[in-house]
Amino acid sequence: MISKDYMDLTEQYVLHTYNRFPVVFEKGEGVYLTDVDGKQYLDFGAGIAVFALGYGNQAYNDALKAQIDKIIHTSNLFYNEPLPEAAQKLAKASGLSKVFFTNSGTEAIEGALKAARKYAYLKEQEKNRKEAPAYELIAMNHSFHGRSVGALAVTGNPHYQEAFKPLMGGVRFADFNDLESVKAQVTDRTCAVILETVQGEGGIYPADPDFLKGVRALCDEKDILMILDEVQCGMGRTGSWFACQQYGVAPDIMTSAKALGCGVPVGAFILSEKVANASLVPGDHGTTYGGNPFACAAVSKVFDLFEELHILEHVQALTPYLEQQLDALVGKYDFLKARRGMGFMQGIEVEGRPVGEIVSKALENGLVIMSAGSNVLRFVPPLVIEKEDIDEMVRRLEASL
Ligand SMILES: *Cc1c(COP(=O)(O)O)cnc(C)c1O
Repeated sequence: MISKDYMDLTEQYVLHTYNRFPVVFEKGEGVYLTDVDGKQYLDFGAGIAVFALGYGNQAYNDALKAQIDKIIHTSNLFYNEPLPEAAQKLAKASGLSKVFFTNSGTEAIEGALKAARKYAYLKEQEKNRKEAPAYELIAMNHSFHGRSVGALAVTGNPHYQEAFKPLMGGVRFADFNDLESVKAQVTDRTCAVILETVQGEGGIYPADPDFLKGVRALCDEKDILMILDEVQCGMGRTGSWFACQQYGVAPDIMTSAKALGCGVPVGAFILSEKVANASLVPGDHGTTYGGNPFACAAVSKVFDLFEELHILEHVQALTPYLEQQLDALVGKYDFLKARRGMGFMQGIEVEGRPVGEIVSKALENGLVIMSAGSNVLRFVPPLVIEKEDIDEMVRRLEASL
């Protein structure tokens, strides 16, 4: 089949919930993708910040194949071999205590919200009061946490929510990087504040250090839980395992997904000791697939390969060069306004031109980049890119501007 056939067949049988770019990818190698017509693309999107290791990493592929030949799925009614190792590695990397594996970032958010509400529920029971437990959540405007009814309720984008109301109740919105606006939403019913350490879909906005520390202090003072969504900015993307570690801020609950399995669908929410000891218990939460041997073998291998390939150090070392090159573009073109980001999660704000047009043009020129928000070019390459790849990206992008 030629690419037009794949596209027609897709439109015929796949529910039209995406406006896809007219490219059919067939395979990948390193940081390059190849479409069914044999054209090569330099990949600065990594399947939306997922494929951190690059394509065709033989050790990763072999680990998955070996697990497939042993067993793929057992259910959570039993123990399995790869689960404890994957959980231990994620707990250690996050600095938190207990892990629940899910199948996506959205489900990680759902679990995190339930854990927070259960914590508040038990706290209220302990006080032996008849009052309803604290159930309110404070979320951020322009946040993104997923499309299920709970995750959508804390996603600060009225356009996404509009047709699906009423969503989960008890959510109040504050402005990201505005501590006073968060304080203004606190009531004696607040159980948690949820935010991304670096807002991704909203347009690549890193938290200000004072803001993140301020939210942590506010939560400590009021006995409110802090949930950090590191689905996109975590797993080495910013040069540390999780972005919050660069701020010296530890959440009570963290969510991970995207690069966690490097392409195998897996997410997780991770609880601090304090929350783990006083929230979800058997019967409260579950998943058929979550934490299955196949997904956990992937997670475990991802952690091993990050260590072997010194991924965190590599991201730290190459970030200044990437930032320099992006800053140079901002200096050169007057419709490129500002660069923001951390590590290999960068955005350039575009003014007076549709970002989608630049993304389409880049694709024609063999470069995959993505947009974020309504006017931001997003750069979330595989974490194994080298200096030459950055130079090549700049060449292909400039040809598209
Ligand atoms: C992508 C994303 C999600 C949702 O993850 P899915 O795997 O698509 O369900 C949640 N939060 C953030 C910050 C994300 O970037």
